[in-house]
Amino acid sequence: MSLPDIKSMTIEELSELMDSFGEKPFRASQIFSWLHEKGVSSVSDMTNLSKALRQRLEQETEFVSLKKVTMQESALDGTRKYLFALSDGNCIESVLMRYHHGNSVCISSQVGCNMGCSFCASTIGGKKRDLLASEMLDQIYRISEDIGERVSNVVVMGTGEPLDNYDNLIRFIRLITDPSGKNISQRNITVSTCGLVPQIGRLAEENLAITLALSLHAPTQELRESIMPIARKYHLTDVLNACDTYFRKTGRRVTIEYSLIHGINDDAVSAERLASLPGMKKCHINLIPVNPVRENSCQSPSRKQVMAFKNILENYGINVTIRREMGRDIDGACGQLRRRFAEDRSLST
Ligand code: SAH
Repeated sequence: MSLPDIKSMTIEELSELMDSFGEKPFRASQIFSWLHEKGVSSVSDMTNLSKALRQRLEQETEFVSLKKVTMQESALDGTRKYLFALSDGNCIESVLMRYHHGNSVCISSQVGCNMGCSFCASTIGGKKRDLLASEMLDQIYRISEDIGERVSNVVVMGTGEPLDNYDNLIRFIRLITDPSGKNISQRNITVSTCGLVPQIGRLAEENLAITLALSLHAPTQELRESIMPIARKYHLTDVLNACDTYFRKTGRRVTIEYSLIHGINDDAVSAERLASLPGMKKCHINLIPVNPVRENSCQSPSRKQVMAFKNILENYGINVTIRREMGRDIDGACGQLRRRFAEDRSLST
């Protein structure tokens, strides 16, 4: 049987654990504060606990703490890409982006991904496993510690499909926004999905004020199916309906992500079709010139083409932005650092 993972526990669950240890309930808040507010990286740092309790925690619980393997920093904009090792030897990527309004961290939600999008490096090799809530949290804690600054924004847009790891994702969101922990505002959290319809429906009922981002990438069912296998399972109409429900239930504007792939979805007809989809005026569209990945043949459109696509959407009265390209000079696209590291390792063994 695996040991209880204390960093994934709520205060109530920690109280029950303390009770089972014969300890006073206030120990739970002390431990929670060490884990989440202070973000310590070992039980021995919890100096206001008795030695006996620290020893029991070390022996009878799991303390999840990620190890930094490498870090690349962009000379252009200070973006940092971290590669972390998990306790089972798997590696995951996280990205720190520095904005005027604060530090934003993009976290992974799974080791690898099963969704199979044709333009994405994270899905090559499939999904190895889901991440625990503690492993999602620690990406933020370790980065915050590394830079000695607070992280104010979180985007769940790294490797993995967060809604395919639903329970751990919700647990993660509740812990990272807990006022006794890092207390990040729900409004500063974005979860990106390729469009798992039942889980979008569930998320709308969680009473969370987070932003939902839908990876749409194509304005028709046929084109979407050709680049995103998940579209065969969930029809475009149902995905858009689920987003509309999310907006009505939460009052939160949905972000539509649209990666522009040259010669595939970046022409004027696609822009017109996208603008004419139901509900687009209530959304915010984020255009992402595709990040070319070594393993596929996707090309990025020219700046002129991106602007032309944007203009068409704007002429329809749609709110649209172009994703600022961060860290162009460091293994750009999602999943590339992890893949490169895995390749180097297999070459050297
Ligand atoms: N599985 C989730 C979140 C992870 S990917 C999702 O599908 O939304 C985060 C975003 O980056 C998604 O919109 C994804 O489609 C996009 N993306 C993946 N690879 C990309 C690439 N090479 N260039 C541009 N965008 C990419």
